[in-house]
Amino acid sequence: MTALLEVEDLKVAYGKIEAVKGISFSVEAGQVVTLIGTNGAGKTTTLRTLSGLLKPLSGSVTFDGKPLRKFRADQIVALGLAHSPEGRHIFPRMTIEDNLRLGAYLRDDKDGILKDIQQAYDLFPILGERRKQAAGTLSGGEQQMLAMGRAMMCRPKLLMLDEPSMGLSPIMMQKIMETIVELKSRGTTILLVEQNAQAALSLADQAHVMEIGKIVLSGTGQDLLHDESVRKAYLGED
Ligand code: ATP
Repeated sequence: MTALLEVEDLKVAYGKIEAVKGISFSVEAGQVVTLIGTNGAGKTTTLRTLSGLLKPLSGSVTFDGKPLRKFRADQIVALGLAHSPEGRHIFPRMTIEDNLRLGAYLRDDKDGILKDIQQAYDLFPILGERRKQAAGTLSGGEQQMLAMGRAMMCRPKLLMLDEPSMGLSPIMMQKIMETIVELKSRGTTILLVEQNAQAALSLADQAHVMEIGKIVLSGTGQDLLHDESVRKAYLGED
């Protein structure tokens, strides 16, 4: 079986600074794959490159059988690769519902869009209750839910989530992690970037540890959760 996403020897630089130094990994359809690592390891840079927002120095990315270097960022979304960015980037003055609609900007199937908005409200009832309110009135965790709901509005084949737990209370974080499990059970393939290694490894099928631009360790989520070096470096154990 060929993977849904295949990343081979990817290198990305900001000017002279090489932020990603030749990484390779793949994501099979139906899996949750996580990239963990400390600040500055290159995780966000990797996702931004996969989305077409940054051009790689070298290496190849194949998504659903297509080489992504041939496509612009908007075309990559149309191919089915959605990105819920770090920091959420919702539009605070627009209503919650209009923010969701924006996620469907490449679609013109009105009925399908309405159905998917309803699905976002089923997944996150608070969004439905406050659908007509400005998105900026939501709490941080609720804005994260909106960002995830919006990314789902293009019916992605692969959903990339950049630090969905950032800045959230433990309860909100738990809710977001449960939602990731729920999305997976509905068949969504997910590439999850997280600093919260415990949470990410607990639910990931495959996991990769990044350090200063390289993947230094790979395995199943459970393997890495029990790996001594990972426990010491990322799970706060001595
Ligand atoms: P974090 O969790 O802090 O976002 P990260 O693993 O996602 O970390 P990146 O944001 O990808 O890491 O950053 C990787 C490296 O690239 C860091 O050294 C960072 O300082 C550098 N970097 C990121 N964005 C830029 C930029 N626009 N210009 C120059 N250097 C950058």
